Amino acid sequence: MNENKYIIKNAFVFDGLGSDKFQADILIEDGIIKEIGNLENIDCKIIDIKGNAIAPGFIDVHSHDDIALIVYPEMDFKVMQGVTTVINGNCGNNVIPRQGTLERWQTRYPDNPIPEWNSYSDYIELINSIKPSVNSAILIGHGSVRNGSGLKNQKRLPNQNEYDEMKGWIKEGMEAGAVGFSTGLIYEPGRYSSTDEIIELTKVISPYDGVYSSHMRNEGNNLLLSIEETIKIGQGAETSIEISHHKVSGKDNWGLSEKSTGMINDARDMGINVHSDQYPYIAGQSALFAIHQNNAFNEGEGGLGTVSGDKVIIAHAPIMPEYEGKKLSDICDDFDLPEQQTAEKILSQDPHVLAIIEGMCEEDLVTILSNPHTMIGSDGVPASGANPHPRLYGCFPRVLGKYAREEKIISMEEAIYKMTGLPAKKFNLNDRGTIEIGKAADLVVFNPDTVIDLATYENPRVYPEGIVHVIVNGTFVVNNSKHTGSRVGKIIKRSS
Ligand SMILES: [Zn+2]
Repeated sequence: MNENKYIIKNAFVFDGLGSDKFQADILIEDGIIKEIGNLENIDCKIIDIKGNAIAPGFIDVHSHDDIALIVYPEMDFKVMQGVTTVINGNCGNNVIPRQGTLERWQTRYPDNPIPEWNSYSDYIELINSIKPSVNSAILIGHGSVRNGSGLKNQKRLPNQNEYDEMKGWIKEGMEAGAVGFSTGLIYEPGRYSSTDEIIELTKVISPYDGVYSSHMRNEGNNLLLSIEETIKIGQGAETSIEISHHKVSGKDNWGLSEKSTGMINDARDMGINVHSDQYPYIAGQSALFAIHQNNAFNEGEGGLGTVSGDKVIIAHAPIMPEYEGKKLSDICDDFDLPEQQTAEKILSQDPHVLAIIEGMCEEDLVTILSNPHTMIGSDGVPASGANPHPRLYGCFPRVLGKYAREEKIISMEEAIYKMTGLPAKKFNLNDRGTIEIGKAADLVVFNPDTVIDLATYENPRVYPEGIVHVIVNGTFVVNNSKHTGSRVGKIIKRSS
């Protein structure tokens, strides 16, 4: 019998287009969906899923797995939650040029040597030879190319040479199949770049139908101005626009989501192709350096809004792991220093600390999730040895279990659409994201009555419940909620 031909029987199909679920069998052959319907008398293996749900594999539009694909090729934290494709290179941070990005990745994975590559094609070849358990698509990172050009943290427009160099890398990436270009404008070096610089660079991706994806300058009191800037950049460069991890940060700003989603809707009414993505938690995660640099511990105008030390938990401290899991306010007590100075002291000992910050509210989360133009992206950061944000393990099942089934904020069909059909269309991954004949067999079988995240802030490295099988390119990567060890993923290039 052809092992690469099988039928998934008795499925409730969520097709990824938002249609009402329907009962059907699905024939898969050589990694492709061949037939959908009531399938009888076909000579092949039958996998009866007994009324469980089947959906397209989830597409995590906001991933930071560029190096995790190399270091943790089984990618358990993603596939165990039903993710079959990760979109990497977010927040301005990707892999090209290698010298513009190496330091950051080394601090995340201090025990793992990072292999060599000289070009996007090299990196793609490397990942394809490693064969991680998930597929990946790539965004080119503004921060990486700005660092690589030598412009780094200088607050000025690039000169002609620097522009040429940066544009060269961006063009090379798009030629190699990248899906777009990302910025991280609260971080170094992105925060030193002007709107004009970003428009000029983003123009390079326009002929390729690339997406401009941005961690905006401000998610706090200037959230609306930042959305305006992001839309202006996309319009100026004539590209599709993605607002990364759409949120309202800082208590004083809560409620702004009505206006921020309204701006997205208004822009779309004017024909501008803008979307956003979101993780379903009211705490975020960022570099303590960036939190401090954005003045979050003072009543500042910073990009994160104002946060207090009891809402900040140290997640990852590669040099001083004894800080991990502690609240900043408790460390303040130990040091007998105010928050700003405590953060400075920690950073002087360990500059690459990551922290979890609880700065959002449930009402804004729900407003943003309810918007039909919001996708799901985990923003998980898989650093070694760390206490990661639980979104790394639980993002997608949490949307399905908590927000669709339990709280009915959106329907299960809509939730699946936000994770599959919508992102596939947005990022030009034309052979993924829906259950239709001819599409790649990236699929997830789950129990809609039990699916839920189990990862918590205290205990984040826990797989979710209710994800039964995960199929990548036709192969079972998760079988009966166990990773099979199969590694069949590849870099997916933008459909042309
Ligand atoms: Zn970000």
